[in-house]
Amino acid sequence: MMTDEQRDQRHHARMQRKKAIIDAKIQRATEERGILVILKGTGKGKSSSAFGMVARALGHDMQVGIVQFIKGKWQTGEEKLFANHPAVRFEVMGTGFTWDTQDRRADIAASEQSWSKAERMLADEHLSLVVLDEITYLFQYDYLPLEKLLTALSRRPAHQHVVITGRPCPDALEAVADTITEVRNQRHAFASGIKAQPGIDW
Ligand code: ATP
Ligand code: MG
Repeated sequence: MMTDEQRDQRHHARMQRKKAIIDAKIQRATEERGILVILKGTGKGKSSSAFGMVARALGHDMQVGIVQFIKGKWQTGEEKLFANHPAVRFEVMGTGFTWDTQDRRADIAASEQSWSKAERMLADEHLSLVVLDEITYLFQYDYLPLEKLLTALSRRPAHQHVVITGRPCPDALEAVADTITEVRNQRHAFASGIKAQPGIDW
C-alpha cells in the first residue's frame, strides 16, 4: 500500500512533467493574428459557442460584426442583447431562407443581400471579430459561390478573427480554417418531445 505521502510525491512529480510539456508548447505558440474558427456538426452548441466569443470580445472592448444567415421563428436572446450594443453590428437575414420558405429565388436574393453585409464586415479593419452564423447552408444549397467567401477571408484585415457556424461545412472552407470543432449530437431534448425554450435554444 502506498502511503499518503508517497501518493502526494507521485502526484507532484506527474504534475511537474505535465507542466514542463505545456510550458514548452506555450513557448512555441508565439504567433498572433486573426484566426478562422469553424464550429460544425450535428450537436447543439455551435451558435451559442460563437456568441460566447462575442461576449469575450466585447469584454475586451473589441468591435464585433455578426450576420445571422437563418432567421428563426423567434427573436433570439443574443439578438435582443447584442443588436443595440454600441460595439456590435448585428444583421439578421430579414426575409427568406427559413425552413418555412419554399421560394428558391427569394432565398437567393436574401442570401445575396446578407452576404454583401458580411463582405463589408470582412473588409472592415475596425472589426476584431466577425461571426457568420449558419452561413454554410448557403453553399449547401448553392445560394452563394464559396469562392466569394474564400476571397473575402483571404483579403480580410490580418488581426480579424472570424467564426463560422453551420452543420455541414465544405472541405475547401475547412482547408483554410485555423480551428475546427465538430459538435456531435449524443442526445437532444427535442428528440424526447421537449420544445425549444428561451435561454437554451434561442
Ligand atoms: P445553439 O444555437 O443552441 O448553440 P446550434 O447552433 O449548435 O445550437 P443549429 O444546428 O444551429 O444548432 O440549430 C439551432 C437550433 O436547433 C437550436 O435551437 C438548437 O437547440 C436546436 N438543435 C441543435 N442541435 C439539435 C439536434 N441534434 N436535435 C434537435 N435540435 C437541435
Ligand atoms: Mg446555430
